[in-house]
Amino acid sequence: MDKFMRDDLKGLKPYKVDSIPYRIKMDANESPYDLPDAIRQRLANELMRGYQFNRYPDSDATALKEAISRYCGVSPQEVMVGAGSDELIRVVISAFVGKGDVVLYPNPSFTMYEVFTRIAGGIPIGVPLGEGFNYDMSRFYRAMEQHKPKLIFICSPNNPTGNVIHKDELMKLVTAFNGVVVVDEAYGEFCGHSIASQMTNYPNALVLKTFSKAFGLAGLRVGYLIGNRELIEGIYAVKPPYNVSSFSQRAAQLVLENMSIFSSRIASIVSEREWMYHKLRGFKGIEVYPSKANFLLIKVPNAQNVHKELIREGILVRNFPNHPRLKDHLRITVSTRQDNEYFIKALERILEG
Ligand code: PMP
Repeated sequence: MDKFMRDDLKGLKPYKVDSIPYRIKMDANESPYDLPDAIRQRLANELMRGYQFNRYPDSDATALKEAISRYCGVSPQEVMVGAGSDELIRVVISAFVGKGDVVLYPNPSFTMYEVFTRIAGGIPIGVPLGEGFNYDMSRFYRAMEQHKPKLIFICSPNNPTGNVIHKDELMKLVTAFNGVVVVDEAYGEFCGHSIASQMTNYPNALVLKTFSKAFGLAGLRVGYLIGNRELIEGIYAVKPPYNVSSFSQRAAQLVLENMSIFSSRIASIVSEREWMYHKLRGFKGIEVYPSKANFLLIKVPNAQNVHKELIREGILVRNFPNHPRLKDHLRITVSTRQDNEYFIKALERILEG
């Protein structure tokens, strides 16, 4: 295989997800709630009437784009739908990044910015977050001057640290930079605000959002990009055709038609996050970072061992054994009160033992 692979991609590892048996899944920032019964029933009825799965889906996702545009307060021409925001990260990079072009992103953050940059032949450069993993924008400006990037990713709330960038800092960055800024708001619903509608006036700003987290559609792969009409139009040239299945488009549309159910689910996750935060703060020897997302990052002695012990208790959380700044950290996805309590009790036992 190695002899066929591009030289610059030889060290690249596949995105690996271990399938470990579990009781409680708190490792992938998914929603603990499956699709509401009412939507399932509606989809089932429509399915029985026939979805024309023999036909390609609407490549433009017209109806879904309209629903998204109403939800986000933008126009449908300012929206592009993708098979998860993962696909759109790749699409955006392929539109703007060629061989040798630099892409900046926060470190630590979501790993796919780096991976897709490498696949495009670009040069990925992580800009270290500052004290307490907060955004230190002076580091970004220094990196911009030094590396002359084509593209900058900002993740807010940031995965896995949970912090947000200040809106003024973001606007300043977009104005100062002559390349494209992508703001990844995958966890935006949990922080209570979005800058999407304010970004469409800028010629060089994009906002990335997803149905995988707050709306619980991770298994159906639906994400979207919002930006200035001309920018979106340009990116359309590199979007694969028919990239989102007709079933996924319809499910996402029904989610937006039932916002009240999801708003109360989001509120419940947010209140559980605060409950967990206070519980975890009560543990001796643990540091908890404030989070605006649906997960909490903790610094815990012997994190790798705690991770193993939690698996033994049937609980999956995320560890970072290979990241120099995160080796002694764990990321826990907020779930239902029952799951969260189960986790807190297990952690208590493990730390005492
Ligand atoms: N961005 C961030 C910050 C994420 O954490 C994730 C999922 N882990 C994604 C994008 C991709 O999500 P999806 O492809 O499911 O929309």
